Amino acid sequence: MATNKILFFSAKPYDKAFFTKHNDAYGFALDFLETHLGPHIVQAVEDGTFAICVFVNDKLTDEVIEVLSVKGVKVIALRCAGFNNVQLETAKRHGIRVCRVPAYSPEAVAEHAVAMLLTLNRKTHKAYNRVREQNFTLTGLLGFNLHGKAVGVIGTGNIGKAFCRIMLGFGCQVMAYDPVEADDLKTLGVHYLSLNEVLNQADILSLHCPLTADNQYLINQDTLSLMKKGVTIINTSRGGLLHTTDTIKALKAGKIGYLGIDVYEQEQQLFFKDLSGTIIEDDTIQRLMSFPNVLVTGHQAFFTQEALSQIAEITLNNVYQLSNGQEPDPAVMLT
Ligand code: NAD
Repeated sequence: MATNKILFFSAKPYDKAFFTKHNDAYGFALDFLETHLGPHIVQAVEDGTFAICVFVNDKLTDEVIEVLSVKGVKVIALRCAGFNNVQLETAKRHGIRVCRVPAYSPEAVAEHAVAMLLTLNRKTHKAYNRVREQNFTLTGLLGFNLHGKAVGVIGTGNIGKAFCRIMLGFGCQVMAYDPVEADDLKTLGVHYLSLNEVLNQADILSLHCPLTADNQYLINQDTLSLMKKGVTIINTSRGGLLHTTDTIKALKAGKIGYLGIDVYEQEQQLFFKDLSGTIIEDDTIQRLMSFPNVLVTGHQAFFTQEALSQIAEITLNNVYQLSNGQEPDPAVMLT
């Protein structure tokens, strides 16, 4: 039996470093597996393991959760905010508590969205390579001012709010769509509009809503047709918000001027892995990466020292409270 054991899936060296450091104060037995969680590995979970700790691409299907339940796992601790990869109802039915880290340095993700926007616009990635070749010409590097541009933000929770504040600082007109409007943002000058109005008026669109059954493929052929020609779209939220084939068509037609994605619907096969020596079978991501006006990053928006420290601390504290019969803050609990 391993009653104080937390088994990590999809563990990278940085997970190990940050969790091990923060665990000094908690004393759990930590075990790290590099593989992602799925039906292929779930039988390897030791009976009596108290908690498993998972990340965005671990698959907690009905089948996986049922095996975890048989093995006596009490807690599924997500070390991320999004939870679209967990069958919550099944966990609930088996009495497994699911917790997450709803807000860890939202600025980390918001700042990465801005970094993508600035890279695409001012082409610093191209300039970097060009000057290293002693080519100091400017042709092809023309950008546009962010000042005065209409920025549409879909989802104004923790990350969306941080993004709005930054864009207001740039002197943009910020408009937003969220079923729950935030008064503090309105005070700062953000205008809430309907989804269609935001899509219709934005020069730059940034997605900061969770992926749900209702908003899958929020960006599709129909919604793209509402947008301005040359719109910039940034998605640091979840890949499934974007219909990738429709997006590629819109890029080819010049409807999308720039696209920055830190997330991709089929990212599980690719992201967080070094595939530099392999043949990638996914033609869609290859097509996306072939556009000069598309920037892909591999789900790194959260990846700052501050965020990793907060993720480790909040996750361990969630599990600690549950292991001591305490009820954590409702904001971190999903079941
Ligand atoms: P949050 O829960 O604080 O805010 C989400 C907001 O979206 C809420 O205000 C909610 O009302 C709104 N919303 C829900 N459905 C919507 C819809 N259909 N249209 C518009 N708004 C809607 O979450 P957060 O911390 O701001 O995170 C947002 C998302 O960012 C997460 O769900 C996750 O998918 C993603 N994320 C990505 C990374 C990364 O590294 N790329 C890291 C953390 C989070």
